[in-house]
Amino acid sequence: MPDFLNDAQRDIQQRAHSLGRLVASLDTHTLNTEQLESETRVLSKEAGIFFLTQPVEFGGTGGTSLDLTIARDALGACGVGHLPGLFGPRPGLLAQASEHVRNKFLRPYLAGEVKGGFGFTEPSDAERHTWARYEGENLIVNGQKSYVTGGSQADFINTLVELTDVGPAMVLIETNSPGVQILRRFGSIDGTEHASFSFTEVSVPNEHVIGEPGTGMNRALDQVNDVRLAIAADCAGLCSFVCELVADHLGRKHPDETVGGSHHHIRVQFGRMRAQSYSARSAVYRTARIVDSGDNAINEVMASKILATEALSLVVDFAIQIIGGEALVESHPLASLFRRVRATRLAEGPTDILHANIARGYLDLHTGRI
Ligand SMILES: Cc1cc2nc3c(=O)[nH]c(=O)nc-3n(C[C@H](O)[C@H](O)[C@H](O)COP(=O)(O)OP(=O)(O)OC[C@H]3O[C@@H](n4cnc5c(N)ncnc54)[C@H](O)[C@@H]3O)c2cc1C
Repeated sequence: MPDFLNDAQRDIQQRAHSLGRLVASLDTHTLNTEQLESETRVLSKEAGIFFLTQPVEFGGTGGTSLDLTIARDALGACGVGHLPGLFGPRPGLLAQASEHVRNKFLRPYLAGEVKGGFGFTEPSDAERHTWARYEGENLIVNGQKSYVTGGSQADFINTLVELTDVGPAMVLIETNSPGVQILRRFGSIDGTEHASFSFTEVSVPNEHVIGEPGTGMNRALDQVNDVRLAIAADCAGLCSFVCELVADHLGRKHPDETVGGSHHHIRVQFGRMRAQSYSARSAVYRTARIVDSGDNAINEVMASKILATEALSLVVDFAIQIIGGEALVESHPLASLFRRVRATRLAEGPTDILHANIARGYLDLHTGRI
């Protein structure tokens, strides 16, 4: 829980909360998407939240996992945590890349001059996972990636490939390279945009392999882990946002206390919503502290993502039922949240696969505390 915070952490919480309220008050009817992102970025930089995601050596303030969890929870509680512009781009995998790649891609990426994507998911009917072979100073890549968020705008994709005779490797592939083709552009119900790609004899310099060849899966999973915890913290904040919406609705709608807020069945539902929120938030904060301690937290991060996304799904569903048809009007915050939360139970690992992995962590790998 956001208990036992020190002064610096409480300061982040207050700054993120003030930022969240400011961003929530921006007039989305008069601003287009780019203007909204740019306004949000300016406000976030002023609040000192933007730089939390960027390490000190890259000009940021290098927030810990707990700092980031506090900020995301506070922004989620204002219902705005998903908006672009709140956090600076993270170096992610590129921080471990060769000097050539860092100079050519990382600096412009952090400055917002180029965009990147993450190529992990394969089409279900792929005969072979994306693979590569060495040919002199280059790698030759073949295969497909089916779900690259921001793929249409991406200048490069950090792509998981199977390097023949070596193992998995993360490879930076420029999207304008000969042989890279966008097969499909599509949007998902949460409002994000994606593309699927094919790679046909794409030639990539060897120095575009990120980190030690053969360690690609672990590197990819490190990045996935960070995003899972970020999703979980945002969902924990959103649980508070939804609970407040419902409390407000119950308080406003029936001031005579004869129905609605005083109706026993609805009070039971509301109590369940709050209990679910509490368990999700507790898991997320505890996990952030384990990550910061340096201990292995893979299983705990998976559990946090499951608990927070499933809790938010239930909380949103109950809230819509309690508030009624008004909550399904397109402009209502619960209508868009209902679509967004559905995607979180699949993105960065579906709930069932995460459950299976937690079982594997305990039974086969003997890791973690769960
Ligand atoms: C909004 C959004 C953004 C995304 N962005 C990206 C991105 O940027 N880059 C990227 O690479 N991917 C991205 N994805 C893809 C996402 O990672 C995959 O959709 C997800 O991992 C599930 O893979 P799949 O769609 O192939 O479904 P599958 O893996 O086929 O799963 C379908 C169902 O089968 C179940 N299942 C499958 N295998 C098992 C098993 N062994 N045990 C138990 N149950 C199982 C799953 O739980 C699930 O219910 C994104 C997805 C979404 C929704």
